[in-house]
Amino acid sequence: MVNIVLFGPPGAGKGTQAFLLKKKYDLVHISTGEVFRHHMAEKTELGLLAKSYIDKGELVPDDVTIHLLEKEVASFPNAKGFIFDGFPRTVTQAEALDAFLEKQSLKVNAMISLEVEEDILVKRILERGKTSGRSDDVNEEKIRNRFAEYYKKTAVLKDYYSKKNKYFGVEGVGSLEEVTERLCQLIDKL
Ligand code: AMP
Repeated sequence: MVNIVLFGPPGAGKGTQAFLLKKKYDLVHISTGEVFRHHMAEKTELGLLAKSYIDKGELVPDDVTIHLLEKEVASFPNAKGFIFDGFPRTVTQAEALDAFLEKQSLKVNAMISLEVEEDILVKRILERGKTSGRSDDVNEEKIRNRFAEYYKKTAVLKDYYSKKNKYFGVEGVGSLEEVTERLCQLIDKL
């Protein structure tokens, strides 16, 4: 079983790459952002709560997000492994994930970060916003706030996983295939 955290700032290509990797390695892809958007579309209580944060480009509170993630993982009892996309985003979430996996004698094998410069990312997200239907993709101020949240709360996870020798950086600029190839080379060695 291999569990991978796909990491990187908003717009780095985590979702796109996770979609390709899950097929190649037969893994379950869990994107907390996608699960929140599903709840928002269904207008569930959780969806309405998440929307109040997501619309401002803020992170959804840890307790809500951790509970959601654990429920998602538990709903795939026969998974051969997971690709976590957009989770963890805080140290509290990373600690909760470790504890949760440990209870099942599992672990995070690697955090792989897609490294892309911020200016390229903002352009990518605004471009994506033309078709994604995501309210947080269309407004530059909201996008900048997502980066502020990333640098304030999420970027520290590089240290968290580096200390465990589980952090790997990958150049996230290039064609889709080139980036996938870089990721596969790394995953094949895990
Ligand atoms: P994403 O699709 O990963 O870009 O996530 C979109 C938005 O959902 C983020 O900007 C956050 O508001 C929220 N979100 C997704 N994952 C998390 C998480 N692990 N912790 C807190 N908020 C999250």
